[in-house]
Amino acid sequence: MERLRDVLVRATACDGMVRCVAAITTRLVDEASRRHRTSPTVSAALGRTLTAGALLGSMLKDTEKVTILLQCTGPIGGITVEADARGNVRGYAKNPRVDLPLTEKKKFDVSGAVGGGMLYVLREADYYRTGLFRDPYCGSVPIVSGEIAEDVAYYLTQSEQIPSAVSLGVFVLPDEERFFRVEAAGGFLIQTFPGVSNDVIRDLEASILATPYVTEMIRQGMGPREILHTALGAYTFEILEEKELRFACTCSFERARRILAALDPEELRAMLREDGGAEMICHFCNATYRFDADDLRAVLLERDPTA
Ligand code: ZN
Repeated sequence: MERLRDVLVRATACDGMVRCVAAITTRLVDEASRRHRTSPTVSAALGRTLTAGALLGSMLKDTEKVTILLQCTGPIGGITVEADARGNVRGYAKNPRVDLPLTEKKKFDVSGAVGGGMLYVLREADYYRTGLFRDPYCGSVPIVSGEIAEDVAYYLTQSEQIPSAVSLGVFVLPDEERFFRVEAAGGFLIQTFPGVSNDVIRDLEASILATPYVTEMIRQGMGPREILHTALGAYTFEILEEKELRFACTCSFERARRILAALDPEELRAMLREDGGAEMICHFCNATYRFDADDLRAVLLERDPTA
């Protein structure tokens, strides 16, 4: 099956009283799985969190970014995802290779991998883009289900006080070359604002409950518009924005070099002496930056031209 490109649609319904976002994230979740060589269970957990990041990212101002952090007690150890308003998403799991048997319903045991703990959401100005540093907005809730969609919905409803329904899904298929590949991933988010009538809330609850799994809809070839159409039932919506999504990291050789250059010269000399170079691995995208002895000497010379 030709996989749909990653795209997000943000819309509004019921005279602005209902906010809705839907996203296809198949390719970016597949890329994250490939980069981090995640197990199928972690692909599902990380993929759902990456999708949640894309959904929350769509509500940011252009220069902001959002971080979703699961500090959890389960074997996955933790998940960190960052997204911006322009469709860039990146993230990683602390223990990418942890795998668990499927549940009785033949689903990934994401809650078993995540366990308990805390879910944090941080919104802040993107320092690298704006050069501004402002105190970030940070909210948190205990992890109530570990399935991630329920936890993000609980966070939005409790911490941000906006009643929210969230659906997230990742579907993988066996693959000869890579053991498995992400065949479908995506999600949707529906929020109601104060003043919305009880009838609307009741209708939406019923239609969301009757909506198939998001991966099932994507595998049928449905895009974000069709997903929203299904989830909203009888209600029509107005599209505010449609944009592409991608797995993108902000790391670079130059940035890695700047981090290296900020280290204590004594530490740099020890690296040169003991390892003959240095290696830095980006947590977010697993890219490796190698600095050989000459690179390190050049960095040291910049720090201390008299040495
Ligand atoms: Zn990176």
